[in-house]
Amino acid sequence: MKVVYVDNNATTKVDEAVFEEMRPYFCELYGNPSSMHFFGGQVQKKIDEARKRTAALLGALPEEIIFTACGTESNNAAIRSALEIFPEKRHIVTTRVEHPAVLTPCRNLSKRGYRVTELSVDGEGNLDLDELRAVVDEDTAIVSIMYANNETGVVFPIEEIGAIVKEKGAFFHTDAVQAVGKIPMNMASSTVDMLSLSGHKLHAPKGIGALYVRKGVPFRPFMVGGHQERSRRAGTENAAGIIALGKACEMAGDFLEEENTKVKALRDRLESEIVRLIPNVRVNGGGAVRLPNTTSVAFEFVEGEAILLLLNEKGICASSGSACTSGSLEPSHVLRAMGVPFTCAHGSIRFSLSRFSTDDQIDTIIRELPPVIHRLREMSPFGREFLQNK
Ligand code: PLP
Repeated sequence: MKVVYVDNNATTKVDEAVFEEMRPYFCELYGNPSSMHFFGGQVQKKIDEARKRTAALLGALPEEIIFTACGTESNNAAIRSALEIFPEKRHIVTTRVEHPAVLTPCRNLSKRGYRVTELSVDGEGNLDLDELRAVVDEDTAIVSIMYANNETGVVFPIEEIGAIVKEKGAFFHTDAVQAVGKIPMNMASSTVDMLSLSGHKLHAPKGIGALYVRKGVPFRPFMVGGHQERSRRAGTENAAGIIALGKACEMAGDFLEEENTKVKALRDRLESEIVRLIPNVRVNGGGAVRLPNTTSVAFEFVEGEAILLLLNEKGICASSGSACTSGSLEPSHVLRAMGVPFTCAHGSIRFSLSRFSTDDQIDTIIRELPPVIHRLREMSPFGREFLQNK
């Protein structure tokens, strides 16, 4: 069975070129980059190159990049650092639609006496910047707001948000795990203090991420021990992963244009055909600025999990939202925050494309999906009623 993989916001295929770049650093060039000998030194040189490549994608300086194990670690490190730098400040601002990698640490901190404000979003998933302006105060240590939403693809106006945060003297962190490689960025002229990214969302392997920390922004490490990463993230470097991330970032820069033309055109075709062929569907966040690769579609009167199972039988791999919340029967917290009605939130499917997505794959989904939805509607009481009244 041919696999139609449209779950790239969960994880991506490692690009063959990225794999080739990292391959020698397992069995041949396995030295410790901190070692004094040439054997480790050559690995260090390659890590330096990877740092430059990662920084270049962000328009940042190499010394502003700290390699971590994943986006989750980067998010946790940023939030904890800000709270240590400002021990007297007890307020954190975030949003209701963040990934659990931000929401969970924030909610845990609220149990430890911190005041946490979770900003709401409107029906399209957009923030109200006046609400942000009203809640950030002198007690706010950090504002952590995602660049782009993993479920809907909705992109937040990060520079405007940063300008508001800066006026109040708080740190501004953005979880850009879904945005890096899809949206051009230039940290040199940005209001962002700290930014998280993750290798496995941009065709590098799992287990490597990075945290950008603007030069001059004080940082207190989360992981302490050795002097790796200029004492900002202890632990022997994941050399192969770092080298892979560097290559993946370089390639992401080269593919940025394609992401916003070819990938976007495929996404747009998929979306408009779904809306044309299937009654009672809505695109979650369809009226907002969105990532070029993502569409979240709500099918009324059907269960998302059931759709996924039937698509799975056809080799189509999509998702009912965040990979991290799947398995629970609760509808997505993102769609609930947007006020998507329960019957729609339950039947929402996310299709997320990549540069490896093809016209053929989109044709397959467009062919297989309408009968799947029809069949499921026939099986549900509300769905049957809807079909009868059509
Ligand atoms: N932030 C967002 C927006 C994500 O989509 C994800 C992963 O799905 C993460 C953070 C976590 O990244 P990682 O899997 O690298 O820990």
